[in-house]
Amino acid sequence: ELAEWQRPLRAQFPIIAGNPDLAYLDSAATAQKPEAVLEAVRAYLTTANANAARGAYPWANATTRMVERVRERVKAFLGDPDPATSAVHFTGGTTEGLRTVARDWLTAYLRDGDEIVVPPADHRANLDPWLEARDLLARQGVRVAVRELPYQASSGDYDFAALAAMAGPRTAFVAATHVHHVYGVDMNIDRLRRAVGPGPVICLDAAQSVGHLPVALDRLDVDFVAFSGHKALALPGTGAVWARQARGPAFHPGGWSGTPNTAGIAGLEAALDWLEAAGPDRIERWCTALAARLTDALRTLDAYEVLGCGLSLAADSPVQHRVGIVAFRHRAISSGDLGFVLFSRGFMVRTDSHCQAGAEESDGSVRVSVHVYNTVEEIDALVAVLAELN
Ligand code: PMP
Repeated sequence: ELAEWQRPLRAQFPIIAGNPDLAYLDSAATAQKPEAVLEAVRAYLTTANANAARGAYPWANATTRMVERVRERVKAFLGDPDPATSAVHFTGGTTEGLRTVARDWLTAYLRDGDEIVVPPADHRANLDPWLEARDLLARQGVRVAVRELPYQASSGDYDFAALAAMAGPRTAFVAATHVHHVYGVDMNIDRLRRAVGPGPVICLDAAQSVGHLPVALDRLDVDFVAFSGHKALALPGTGAVWARQARGPAFHPGGWSGTPNTAGIAGLEAALDWLEAAGPDRIERWCTALAARLTDALRTLDAYEVLGCGLSLAADSPVQHRVGIVAFRHRAISSGDLGFVLFSRGFMVRTDSHCQAGAEESDGSVRVSVHVYNTVEEIDALVAVLAELN
């Protein structure tokens, strides 16, 4: 049933359809683009290209209206229950989004003696900006304590009991990740609010979840969501930060003071439309099934070690599943060499340390990540090559 659904979707990605001998397995780095996105960018650039919020002629007005419309589109796509009061700021990706929250908002919000909680083993983009904000404030005489968000060794998500024990009245801000970019683990963010209570602002790195699974902000009590449009089928150099605006000062970075990536924003609208039509729940099931198939196969091959805290990976596991991302290591072949062999056979995977903070854990591993266009056949062909090296 899912295979019937997926086949025509795959056909809509020109770079995939045009390269039948190659398998793109690096979508956690950036995703491929469906024809609808390319067409939307082309349509915008050939009918209304102008700067937004400048000039009173039709193309400029159309561009301004388009950008405003896509802000609302982002809110709707994320399931925002209160779009009248929330804000969307367009960025070049998740890194810029988190940095903007740290620099333009967090530094104005924190007070002397506050405490922030940050994830020490997630993507660097979700650690460094918070530490830099702390350092900036320290130079102004504002002392902010940094605590580390604890993980559960058994399941790889956050340890919410330990977090609840750690959170106190001075806990002002928590940075967390929705889906881990190396382990593919859904970090169970729906439990985070209960663990820390109603006070703290929660900022979510949703780089690996937006476009991969339903993000329901009506059920997820977080304050900021940063994501990368380019990992959600839109153009490189696109992304956004959504801000609920319910806690702390208003988030108004930049406004219209610079030239936005209007073509990229037009493409983002088309990407979100495409994803919604395809169904984020089905995309999640598809990508999770491919990841489970790869993980199950790797576990039968002695030479490989799958990274990620001994997770239970059965498709119906009550613990967790991997949302389309599997990292593994060959016990004798380096990450670079394995990546080279795989590419010589047509498989594009990620090698090296994956920008993980405190990276020893994933050093020397290869990361395979899939999106809606990948197939069971690609995973089976990859497994056959990995088995040759076993
Ligand atoms: N956070 C996570 C979890 C990611 O996977 C990535 C991309 N690898 C980023 C942040 C950074 O995203 P971008 O490159 O779009 O800034």
